[in-house]
Amino acid sequence: MPTAHPPIEVPNRLLHGPGPSPVAPSVLAALAKPCIGHMDPEFMRVMNEVREMLQAVFETNNEMTLACSGTGSAGAEMLVDNLVEPGDTCLVGVNGVFGGRLVEKCRRAGGKVETVTAAWGDAIDEDMFITKIEELKPQLAVLVHAETSTGVHQPLDRVADAAHRHGGLFMVDCVTSLGGLPVKIDQRHIDAAYSGTQKCLSCPPGLAPVTLSERAMHKVQNRLTPVNSWYLDLTLVGNYWSGSRAYHHTAPVNMNYALHEALRLILEEGLEPRFERHQRVHTHLSEQLAARGFEYASDPDNSLPMLNLVTIPKSVNDEAAVRRALLDEHGIEIGGGLGDLAGKCWRIGLMGHGAREESVDAIVKALDEVA
Ligand SMILES: *Cc1c(COP(=O)(O)O)cnc(C)c1O
Repeated sequence: MPTAHPPIEVPNRLLHGPGPSPVAPSVLAALAKPCIGHMDPEFMRVMNEVREMLQAVFETNNEMTLACSGTGSAGAEMLVDNLVEPGDTCLVGVNGVFGGRLVEKCRRAGGKVETVTAAWGDAIDEDMFITKIEELKPQLAVLVHAETSTGVHQPLDRVADAAHRHGGLFMVDCVTSLGGLPVKIDQRHIDAAYSGTQKCLSCPPGLAPVTLSERAMHKVQNRLTPVNSWYLDLTLVGNYWSGSRAYHHTAPVNMNYALHEALRLILEEGLEPRFERHQRVHTHLSEQLAARGFEYASDPDNSLPMLNLVTIPKSVNDEAAVRRALLDEHGIEIGGGLGDLAGKCWRIGLMGHGAREESVDAIVKALDEVA
């Protein structure tokens, strides 16, 4: 007879890494509500409200706005697989891990990929990116708004118009920026964007909000080849989220309750006050860190409020041991460096519900004790 394990015990952590971020009690409570059918009219109502609130948080009127079932990476693949046809030229800005992943995703979708790069910790030069768009006339131009691997905030206000001048589309990864920085899909004429629930939306991981403009949907509807992924085919998924309501896959019902509550909290707080809170708490952390001799490794003119990339002090020999002590002795998670920055930097996240002065004070006090 196999023996059953006892029920899991999970410690309380202060999540200040690159995500997941702290989840509000009411969001956890929403997850625990009764599971109902994914075709139940009451669940359809939940989906409609999730869509409406996603439109508000993305700041868009795009009809095609929904929560893709899967994490942020699924959202990225949904958009790439639907928007890239074999032979399309894709121009991707690469200054960290997530830009690099987009290159791979566009390639796998059959795109001919060109890149504009910047050093890790720097933003992609917007003028250089636009010049490259004018030269290559890509069907798809892609930038990462908040590079979570490097703490860089990417300027992108002028890119969409450049992409549109020759009929191309502009897509943005806003996994870490949505809910923490203005994304302003409509004002910036962004054609396609995806996010994830576990960064500044402060919901557990599991859904990927996506939004597509009419221009982007025109491309999807006029594809010459079927979308490679059946599961992520926007036309099929879109029919489940609105229109015919045809069964496509079993939506993660309770995750949608959680997202509903997380979005409700964001809109209750207000977008502007929320962005200001992220900025204020980031300033508090940077002052506290500066007083202790820490240095930022990202360009100070383009640093993210919700993800702080700091170099590890020379006095620290074993950085992984320090992070382990933070976790074991203080219950605080911070992130190590990713990719090229592994072992060189720490990433301190102040995302969503976790962007609070008390959290910063707890982090620096614990660092004082263990580092
Ligand atoms: C976290 C993250 C992703 C990937 O999201 P997952 O939920 O881990 O699949 C993509 N892009 C950026 C910028 C991220 O921070």
